[in-house]
Amino acid sequence: MSTASYWLAEPHDSPLAARVEPPVDVAVVGGGVTGCSCALTLAEAGLHVRLYEEREIAGGASGRNGGFALRGGAAPYPVLAESIGRDRAGELWRWTERALADLADLAGDAFRPIGSLRLAVDEEERAELEEEYEAMRADGFEIEWRDTLPPPLSVSHPAAIFHPPDGVLQPARLVRRLAARAAEAGVEIHERTRVFSLEETGAEKVVVATDGYPSGLLGPLEGLIVPTRGQVIATESVPERLFEVPHYGRHGFDYWHQTPDGRVVAGGFRDVSLQDEFTADEVTTPPVQEALERFVDSLFGRPLRVDYRWAGIFGLVLDFLPVVGRVPERDDLWVAGGYSGHGNVLGFACGRLVARAILGDRDPLLDLFGPARLL
Ligand SMILES: Cc1cc2nc3c(=O)[nH]c(=O)nc-3n(C[C@H](O)[C@H](O)[C@H](O)COP(=O)(O)OP(=O)(O)OC[C@H]3O[C@@H](n4cnc5c(N)ncnc54)[C@H](O)[C@@H]3O)c2cc1C
Repeated sequence: MSTASYWLAEPHDSPLAARVEPPVDVAVVGGGVTGCSCALTLAEAGLHVRLYEEREIAGGASGRNGGFALRGGAAPYPVLAESIGRDRAGELWRWTERALADLADLAGDAFRPIGSLRLAVDEEERAELEEEYEAMRADGFEIEWRDTLPPPLSVSHPAAIFHPPDGVLQPARLVRRLAARAAEAGVEIHERTRVFSLEETGAEKVVVATDGYPSGLLGPLEGLIVPTRGQVIATESVPERLFEVPHYGRHGFDYWHQTPDGRVVAGGFRDVSLQDEFTADEVTTPPVQEALERFVDSLFGRPLRVDYRWAGIFGLVLDFLPVVGRVPERDDLWVAGGYSGHGNVLGFACGRLVARAILGDRDPLLDLFGPARLL
C-alpha cells in the first residue's frame, strides 16, 4: 500500500533542462499548477524565468488533490454574489469558465470533460442547491437540476445540480505537461531545491506560488493563507462503474469519482477531526482514513481494498477568494495562492493573472484578490 498519491505514481519524463543566463527577470517559487502556469506565461512573453520546487514538479497539492476541475470558486455562487455583488460574481465565474476551456486545450488526455455533480445530503442542502441553481440559471449559466439520482445515491441524496462545463483531471499529468511546455519556452526548472531567501534567487522579481505550504518567504503575509490538510484514498479497480462523473456533497466535505481504470478516488471527511486538519503536516491519520474507507465501502456495499492513501496541504482564506498580487510595500515580491481547496482551475488562472500583472497588464480582478486585505 502506497502513501504516495495515485496521480504522482504515474511514470513520467523529467522536464527538459533549459538554461537561463543571468540576469533572471523572475524567479517562481513552487512547481504546482500556479507556478507552472505563471512561469509558462512569463517565458512566452520573452522573460528570463527560473522555477524552484522543493520536491518534484506537482509534488505538492497539485499532484495530491481529488482531480476535480470545477468552474467558480470555493464559495457557492449565491454566497459569492452576496459578498461581492451579483455582477462581479458572474464575471468571476465566467472568467473561470474561460480558464477551464484553456486548461482543457493544454491538458489533452489529462482532462476528461464530463461535468460534475454537486449533491445535497439533506433538505437543508437541497434548498441551498435550489437557490444556487436558480441564481445561476437566471444569470445565463449552463446548469441542470437533478431531482432523482441513480442507486446507491437515490436514498441518501435528495437532489443534485449538474455543472456541464466541469470535468476531472489527472492533475499530476496536467502539471507535468505545463512544466514541459514552460521548459520548452525557456524556463529553467530546479526541482528538489528549496528557496530560503529572496536574495538567493538573484532575480529581479519573485513570485511565491506555494498555496498552503509555508514558504517562509512571504514576510507579513506568512501564515495568513492558512495551511489545511486534505486526505484522499484510491481503491483497487472495481468492475462496476457507478460514478462516472465527479461527485461532491456535504458542502464539499465528501468528494469522489472513478478513474478510467475503475479505481474509486475519494477524499474529504476533514470534519471528523476539523481542528487537527489545520496543519501543514502532510501525513494521513486514522480517523479521516477510516471515515473515507467506511464511506466508500457503504457506496459499494462491500469492503474495497485501498491501494493508495495520501495527504496534501491547501491554503484556506476566510473570504474564500484567491490571494493574487504584489505583497504590500514590496516592489519585488508577488504572490498567487489561497484557493481554499478549489485550486485546479483557479491556480491555472491565477498563475496567468499574476504573470500578466508583472508584465504590466492589470486585470480588474486583482482588486478583488489583493493580498493587502489579509493584513
Ligand atoms: C487533498 C486535497 C484535495 C484537493 N482537491 C481538489 C480538487 O479536487 N479540485 C480542486 O480544484 N482543488 C483541489 N485541491 C486544491 C488544489 O490542489 C490546490 O489549491 C492547488 O493544487 C494549488 O496549486 P499551487 O500550484 O498553488 O500549489 P501546490 O501545488 O501546493 O504547489 C506548491 C509547491 O511549493 C513548494 N514549495 C513550498 N515552499 C517552497 C520553497 N520555499 N521553495 C521551493 N518550493 C517550495 C511545495 O513543495 C509545493 O510543491 C485539493 C487540495 C488537497 C490538498
